Amino acid sequence: MKKKKTGTTKKNPAKTLVLYTTAIIILLLALFFINQATTDKAQDLTRVDEQPSIVNQPVIGKEEAKVTLIEFGDYKCPSCKKWSQDIYPLLKAEYIDTGKMKLVFVNTLFHGDESKLGALAGEAIFSQSKDSFWEYNEAMFKAQPTENHDGLWITEKKILDLSQNISPQIDVQKLKEDLSKGTTLPQVEVDNALVEKYGITQTPTIMINGIKISNPFDIETIKSVIDKELGA
Ligand code: CA
Repeated sequence: MKKKKTGTTKKNPAKTLVLYTTAIIILLLALFFINQATTDKAQDLTRVDEQPSIVNQPVIGKEEAKVTLIEFGDYKCPSCKKWSQDIYPLLKAEYIDTGKMKLVFVNTLFHGDESKLGALAGEAIFSQSKDSFWEYNEAMFKAQPTENHDGLWITEKKILDLSQNISPQIDVQKLKEDLSKGTTLPQVEVDNALVEKYGITQTPTIMINGIKISNPFDIETIKSVIDKELGA
Protein backbone atom coordinates (compact mmCIF):
# COMPACT_ATOMS: atom_id res chain seq x y z
CA MET A 1 0.00 0.00 0.00
CA LYS A 2 3.00 2.31 0.65
CA LYS A 3 4.65 3.84 -2.43
CA LYS A 4 7.92 2.26 -1.40
CA LYS A 5 6.45 -1.15 -1.92
CA THR A 6 5.75 -0.53 -5.62
CA GLY A 7 9.16 -1.96 -6.38
CA THR A 8 8.28 -5.25 -4.76
CA THR A 9 5.52 -5.77 -7.30
CA LYS A 10 7.98 -6.85 -9.94
CA LYS A 11 10.21 -8.72 -7.55
CA ASN A 12 7.50 -10.52 -5.65
CA PRO A 13 4.10 -10.48 -7.37
CA ALA A 14 2.85 -13.26 -5.09
CA LYS A 15 3.36 -11.08 -2.01
CA THR A 16 1.50 -8.18 -3.64
CA LEU A 17 -1.35 -10.50 -4.55
CA VAL A 18 -1.58 -11.68 -0.95
CA LEU A 19 -1.63 -8.06 0.25
CA TYR A 20 -4.37 -7.08 -2.19
CA THR A 21 -6.41 -10.19 -1.41
CA THR A 22 -6.12 -9.52 2.33
CA ALA A 23 -7.19 -5.90 1.81
CA ILE A 24 -10.20 -7.01 -0.24
CA ILE A 25 -11.18 -9.61 2.36
CA ILE A 26 -10.96 -7.02 5.16
CA LEU A 27 -13.08 -4.63 3.11
CA LEU A 28 -15.70 -7.30 2.39
CA LEU A 29 -15.83 -8.33 6.04
CA ALA A 30 -16.30 -4.71 7.08
CA LEU A 31 -19.14 -4.33 4.58
CA PHE A 32 -20.69 -7.58 5.81
CA PHE A 33 -20.67 -6.47 9.45
CA ILE A 34 -22.03 -3.02 8.60
CA ASN A 35 -24.81 -4.71 6.67
CA GLN A 36 -25.49 -7.14 9.54
CA ALA A 37 -25.74 -4.31 12.02
CA THR A 38 -28.25 -2.47 9.84
CA THR A 39 -30.31 -5.63 9.31
CA ASP A 40 -30.39 -6.39 13.02
CA LYS A 41 -31.71 -2.95 13.86
CA ALA A 42 -34.57 -2.94 11.40
CA GLN A 43 -35.63 -5.68 9.05
CA ASP A 44 -35.54 -4.81 5.40
CA LEU A 45 -39.15 -5.16 4.37
CA THR A 46 -39.03 -4.45 0.67
CA ARG A 47 -41.43 -6.23 -1.63
CA VAL A 48 -40.23 -8.10 -4.69
CA ASP A 49 -41.49 -6.68 -8.00
CA GLU A 50 -43.13 -9.89 -9.06
CA GLN A 51 -44.29 -12.37 -6.44
CA PRO A 52 -43.22 -16.01 -6.86
CA SER A 53 -45.59 -18.19 -8.84
CA ILE A 54 -47.36 -20.71 -6.61
CA VAL A 55 -48.84 -22.72 -9.47
CA ASN A 56 -48.77 -26.45 -8.61
CA GLN A 57 -47.33 -25.78 -5.18
CA PRO A 58 -48.81 -27.24 -1.99
CA VAL A 59 -51.05 -24.74 -0.25
CA ILE A 60 -52.55 -24.94 3.22
CA GLY A 61 -55.38 -22.55 4.04
CA LYS A 62 -58.05 -20.88 1.95
CA GLU A 63 -57.04 -20.33 -1.69
CA GLU A 64 -58.68 -16.88 -1.67
CA ALA A 65 -56.94 -15.72 1.54
CA LYS A 66 -55.68 -12.17 1.27
CA VAL A 67 -52.19 -13.01 2.50
CA THR A 68 -49.84 -15.62 1.07
CA LEU A 69 -46.85 -16.77 3.07
CA ILE A 70 -44.25 -18.76 1.16
CA GLU A 71 -41.90 -20.93 3.17
CA PHE A 72 -38.69 -21.88 1.42
CA GLY A 73 -37.80 -24.94 3.48
CA ASP A 74 -35.62 -28.01 3.63
CA TYR A 75 -36.39 -31.19 5.63
CA LYS A 76 -32.72 -31.53 6.43
CA CYS A 77 -32.41 -28.05 7.94
CA PRO A 78 -32.58 -27.79 11.77
CA SER A 79 -33.91 -24.21 11.72
CA CYS A 80 -36.77 -25.39 9.51
CA LYS A 81 -37.66 -28.03 12.10
CA LYS A 82 -37.58 -25.35 14.77
CA TRP A 83 -39.69 -22.99 12.64
CA SER A 84 -42.25 -25.69 11.91
CA GLN A 85 -42.59 -26.43 15.62
CA ASP A 86 -42.29 -22.99 17.20
CA ILE A 87 -43.60 -20.45 14.68
CA TYR A 88 -45.85 -22.31 12.26
CA PRO A 89 -48.42 -23.44 14.90
CA LEU A 90 -48.84 -19.82 16.07
CA LEU A 91 -49.43 -18.58 12.53
CA LYS A 92 -51.71 -21.51 11.73
CA ALA A 93 -53.98 -20.84 14.69
CA GLU A 94 -54.17 -17.08 14.18
CA TYR A 95 -54.16 -16.68 10.43
CA ILE A 96 -54.48 -19.94 8.48
CA ASP A 97 -57.32 -21.59 10.38
CA THR A 98 -59.19 -18.29 10.36
CA GLY A 99 -59.00 -17.97 6.57
CA LYS A 100 -56.81 -14.87 6.58
CA MET A 101 -53.67 -16.44 5.21
CA LYS A 102 -52.50 -19.41 3.17
CA LEU A 103 -49.07 -21.00 3.39
CA VAL A 104 -47.14 -22.44 0.48
CA PHE A 105 -44.13 -24.73 0.84
CA VAL A 106 -41.28 -24.57 -1.67
CA ASN A 107 -38.46 -27.12 -1.50
CA THR A 108 -35.05 -25.59 -0.98
CA LEU A 109 -32.26 -28.08 -1.45
CA PHE A 110 -29.39 -26.78 0.66
CA HIS A 111 -28.25 -30.08 2.19
CA GLY A 112 -27.48 -32.31 -0.78
CA ASP A 113 -28.96 -35.68 -1.71
CA GLU A 114 -31.04 -36.07 1.43
CA SER A 115 -32.76 -32.71 0.87
CA LYS A 116 -33.45 -33.79 -2.70
CA LEU A 117 -34.89 -37.17 -1.71
CA GLY A 118 -37.16 -35.54 0.87
CA ALA A 119 -38.32 -33.07 -1.78
CA LEU A 120 -38.91 -35.72 -4.47
CA ALA A 121 -41.01 -37.71 -2.02
CA GLY A 122 -42.98 -34.64 -0.93
CA GLU A 123 -43.81 -33.82 -4.55
CA ALA A 124 -44.78 -37.46 -5.23
CA ILE A 125 -47.12 -37.51 -2.22
CA PHE A 126 -48.55 -34.13 -3.23
CA SER A 127 -49.38 -35.51 -6.69
CA GLN A 128 -51.28 -38.37 -5.01
CA SER A 129 -53.12 -36.41 -2.33
CA LYS A 130 -52.81 -32.71 -1.56
CA ASP A 131 -53.81 -33.14 2.09
CA SER A 132 -51.33 -35.95 2.64
CA PHE A 133 -48.52 -33.63 1.63
CA TRP A 134 -49.05 -31.56 4.78
CA GLU A 135 -49.08 -34.67 6.94
CA TYR A 136 -45.82 -35.73 5.30
CA ASN A 137 -44.35 -32.25 5.77
CA GLU A 138 -45.15 -32.24 9.47
CA ALA A 139 -43.98 -35.83 9.96
CA MET A 140 -40.65 -35.15 8.22
CA PHE A 141 -39.79 -32.17 10.40
CA LYS A 142 -40.82 -34.18 13.44
CA ALA A 143 -38.64 -37.09 12.29
CA GLN A 144 -35.56 -34.90 11.89
CA PRO A 145 -33.20 -35.91 14.72
CA THR A 146 -32.70 -33.17 17.30
CA GLU A 147 -29.09 -34.20 17.71
CA ASN A 148 -26.74 -35.05 14.86
CA HIS A 149 -29.15 -33.87 12.17
CA ASP A 150 -26.15 -33.92 9.82
CA GLY A 151 -26.01 -37.70 10.08
CA LEU A 152 -27.83 -39.68 7.41
CA TRP A 153 -31.53 -39.93 8.20
CA ILE A 154 -33.50 -39.15 5.04
CA THR A 155 -33.48 -42.51 3.29
CA GLU A 156 -35.99 -44.19 0.99
CA LYS A 157 -36.79 -46.69 3.74
CA LYS A 158 -37.42 -43.91 6.26
CA ILE A 159 -39.73 -42.10 3.84
CA LEU A 160 -41.70 -45.23 2.94
CA ASP A 161 -42.11 -46.27 6.59
CA LEU A 162 -43.17 -42.78 7.60
CA SER A 163 -45.61 -42.49 4.68
CA GLN A 164 -47.18 -45.84 5.52
CA ASN A 165 -47.96 -44.53 8.99
CA ILE A 166 -49.19 -41.03 8.29
CA SER A 167 -52.00 -41.50 5.79
CA PRO A 168 -53.95 -44.35 4.21
CA GLN A 169 -54.38 -42.05 1.20
CA ILE A 170 -50.73 -42.55 0.25
CA ASP A 171 -50.09 -45.37 -2.19
CA VAL A 172 -46.71 -46.42 -0.83
CA GLN A 173 -45.93 -48.75 -3.74
CA LYS A 174 -46.54 -45.90 -6.21
CA LEU A 175 -44.39 -43.61 -4.06
CA LYS A 176 -41.57 -46.18 -4.16
CA GLU A 177 -41.81 -46.38 -7.97
CA ASP A 178 -41.85 -42.59 -8.29
CA LEU A 179 -38.76 -42.31 -6.13
CA SER A 180 -36.81 -44.89 -8.11
CA LYS A 181 -37.84 -43.31 -11.43
CA GLY A 182 -37.36 -39.73 -10.22
CA THR A 183 -40.86 -38.98 -11.54
CA THR A 184 -41.16 -35.70 -9.67
CA LEU A 185 -37.78 -34.28 -10.62
CA PRO A 186 -39.41 -31.62 -12.86
CA GLN A 187 -41.45 -30.33 -9.89
CA VAL A 188 -38.32 -30.17 -7.73
CA GLU A 189 -36.59 -28.25 -10.51
CA VAL A 190 -39.44 -25.72 -10.58
CA ASP A 191 -38.80 -25.11 -6.87
CA ASN A 192 -35.08 -24.83 -7.49
CA ALA A 193 -35.69 -22.22 -10.15
CA LEU A 194 -37.72 -20.15 -7.65
CA VAL A 195 -34.92 -20.43 -5.09
CA GLU A 196 -32.45 -19.10 -7.65
CA LYS A 197 -34.74 -16.45 -9.06
CA TYR A 198 -35.47 -14.97 -5.64
CA GLY A 199 -31.90 -15.29 -4.37
CA ILE A 200 -32.82 -17.48 -1.41
CA THR A 201 -29.69 -18.07 0.67
CA GLN A 202 -31.02 -19.31 3.99
CA THR A 203 -33.64 -21.77 5.18
CA PRO A 204 -36.27 -21.23 6.19
CA THR A 205 -36.89 -18.05 4.23
CA ILE A 206 -40.31 -16.55 4.74
CA MET A 207 -41.97 -14.33 2.15
CA ILE A 208 -45.26 -12.64 2.95
CA ASN A 209 -47.10 -11.24 -0.09
CA GLY A 210 -43.66 -10.87 -1.68
CA ILE A 211 -42.01 -9.31 1.37
CA LYS A 212 -38.95 -11.28 2.43
CA ILE A 213 -38.58 -11.50 6.20
CA SER A 214 -34.91 -11.71 7.06
CA ASN A 215 -35.43 -13.22 10.50
CA PRO A 216 -38.04 -16.01 10.23
CA PHE A 217 -38.20 -16.31 14.04
CA ASP A 218 -39.13 -12.68 14.60
CA ILE A 219 -42.79 -13.42 15.27
CA GLU A 220 -43.61 -9.78 16.09
CA THR A 221 -42.39 -8.56 12.71
CA ILE A 222 -44.08 -11.45 10.92
CA LYS A 223 -47.40 -10.68 12.60
CA SER A 224 -47.13 -6.96 11.98
CA VAL A 225 -46.42 -7.54 8.28
CA ILE A 226 -49.38 -9.93 7.99
CA ASP A 227 -51.68 -7.52 9.84
CA LYS A 228 -50.58 -4.68 7.62
CA GLU A 229 -51.25 -6.76 4.52
CA LEU A 230 -54.66 -7.75 5.85
CA GLY A 231 -55.51 -4.13 6.43
CA ALA A 232 -54.16 -3.00 3.08
CA1 CA B 1 -42.91 -27.67 -5.03
